[in-house]
Amino acid sequence: MILGSILIICLLDSLMAQRTYCQLPDPIFNDGVKNSTWGDADPSDWNYLNSNEWKTKVVTCGASFQSPINIVTSTSTKESSFPAINYILKTSTKNYFEAQRDYTKELEGEYDFITAFDLSNQQYKYYARQFHIHTPSEHQVDGKNFDLEVHFVHQAVEDGEQSCNDIRNKLTVFGLLFQQSATATDYEVFKPWFDDTVNKVSSFDMNDFFQKMTDKTYYHYTGSLTTIPCSQTVNWYVFTSPLPISKTQYQQFKDFLDNDDYFPTQSNNRPIQNLNGRTLYKGTASFNGVTSLPVIEASWSTIIQIAFLLLIQFI
Ligand SMILES: [Zn+2]
Repeated sequence: MILGSILIICLLDSLMAQRTYCQLPDPIFNDGVKNSTWGDADPSDWNYLNSNEWKTKVVTCGASFQSPINIVTSTSTKESSFPAINYILKTSTKNYFEAQRDYTKELEGEYDFITAFDLSNQQYKYYARQFHIHTPSEHQVDGKNFDLEVHFVHQAVEDGEQSCNDIRNKLTVFGLLFQQSATATDYEVFKPWFDDTVNKVSSFDMNDFFQKMTDKTYYHYTGSLTTIPCSQTVNWYVFTSPLPISKTQYQQFKDFLDNDDYFPTQSNNRPIQNLNGRTLYKGTASFNGVTSLPVIEASWSTIIQIAFLLLIQFI
């Protein structure tokens, strides 16, 4: 009977751990364009030499709420409620693997969740799914680009507490800016990955980035993916105080963009898009992620496991 209980618990655990990520809307292609993939084999394909023509391939890329933008700090509105950047577990417990992307370097996996507010002040739960890199930065601050921008992409889930239908922005992306510094030490999480000695990271802590920030000011607005299909479903939080990056690690990423002709001057940033009347909100993030707490699925799973155990003992 005990063995049976353990088997049921294992099965339950694997079922409860499944996450149903909220899907992004399907892209709307222009007449005659069936798909747009990286490169230039087909006139509908996209790369960084033709970024001003993306809207002729995918309709959304020409819509009103696109990213990146120039953040004009003097015109932002102070946000009343701050999002807590609240990683429940300090360290990723699962491997992040390199995704095959021709236009960036990207690690994908499943980190723990954060809670974030959208602009209607609704709070939702998002899981960190991947991070990838642009150079120079995609967002500008008062017209200035930085050397690098890392995008931490979080996706909402459908679960007992929230429904995808209610969540306008299925993604929350943190944009972290980096500037070369002679005194910067290398980031451990970038080191073996940038060296091309591994294609995975078994453990990293996003809070390490945030804790290195002396100024945790962010600018929040609603925008889009900065690559095709330009889906307008992103809560953007751009942290404007740059983190230091060593010349070695900066150059390693630049060298990656040497691999084909689609990167003008070794860059993979989309040009600045018009704000088109959107409001920019300014805030200061609070960080609560250094404490280890159980994730929410584990709580529910534990409750059901206990219920099953009790049930089985009485059968
Ligand atoms: Zn990006």
